[in-house]
Amino acid sequence: MIIQLTSSIQSSQKDSIVSKVTSLGYKSTEVNTQLGSYLIAIGKKEFDIRQIGFMPGIADIHQVSDEYKLVSRKWKVDQTQVDLGDGVFIGGGSLAIMAGPCSIETEKQVELTLTHLKKSGVKIMRGGVFKPRSSPYAFRGLGVDGLKMWHQLAKAAGIKIISEVMQVSQIAEMDDYVDVFQVGARNTQNFNLLDELGKVDKPVMIKRGISGTLEELLSSAEYVFSGGNEKLILCERGIRTYEKASRNTMDINAIPILKEKSHLPVVADPSHGIGIREYVEPVALAAVMAGADGIIYETHQKPEEAYSDAQQTLDFSESERLIRKMKEAFALRDSW
Ligand code: PEP
Ligand code: MN
Repeated sequence: MIIQLTSSIQSSQKDSIVSKVTSLGYKSTEVNTQLGSYLIAIGKKEFDIRQIGFMPGIADIHQVSDEYKLVSRKWKVDQTQVDLGDGVFIGGGSLAIMAGPCSIETEKQVELTLTHLKKSGVKIMRGGVFKPRSSPYAFRGLGVDGLKMWHQLAKAAGIKIISEVMQVSQIAEMDDYVDVFQVGARNTQNFNLLDELGKVDKPVMIKRGISGTLEELLSSAEYVFSGGNEKLILCERGIRTYEKASRNTMDINAIPILKEKSHLPVVADPSHGIGIREYVEPVALAAVMAGADGIIYETHQKPEEAYSDAQQTLDFSESERLIRKMKEAFALRDSW
């Protein structure tokens, strides 16, 4: 059960609500975010919400039967729109496009990518400066110095930054230089990291775990929300299955299911989803038609020279064509 508290609630009123909920056999947890205050009451006994509904300090009460509560659509029917500032949004009826290299490599690369994105009307650039790599000998990113260089150029170009945070200690060093923190597929259930991102007043995009269920993804988002940060985005990026023909198996099913289960925006990553350059476009278009609120994909001025994920990275002309087609697909979906 979610008890929404009024912004003017007094602490004595809150104490009375907690006592009443406890006496009814429920355990309550208080959640305070940038946007509101809630009591999450967990218990098994049935009771009539009219027993507490009259209490001062309560704005609304919602019965939510899902394991996850605050990210559930059962209490918030309206779609969440995440505001990145300067008129850039993810969710809420538009298609957010996020493109850029797998890894930030050089100043020249960043400049060329920003020019490409600006020309194509893309407002968010992706890129990793801390790279989770299967081999310790592979390129592991430029670190925070690379992020600072990227930030300076992106800010001048009026383009927002999304970048992966891999561990708690990186949150503070990245905070001034990113617009969205990305939680990678290998960290979806790093609960310490999720707890700490709950304390940040910046959007967080959580990718689905490599072998994670949708319920696990939603529960990971619940960690961040219940930690105090409701600026959340979910991302489907393909899962590991027995199929070897592609890097991962892009779960298009996840898009309508997540949108039905949650009010949070749902983004799709066709680059990691299929892992094959030629097929990024059809998978991206399928995700748009399936209802995605955004697409994140990899592009590079010379994909064959990219330090990481070259095999799934589009060149700028392929990227330009994809952007045009995604806009067309989205307009068609919107008209239905
Ligand atoms: C990435 O987006 O660069 C990345 C490493 O993705 P994932 O966590 O989905 O593997
Ligand atoms: Mn990558």
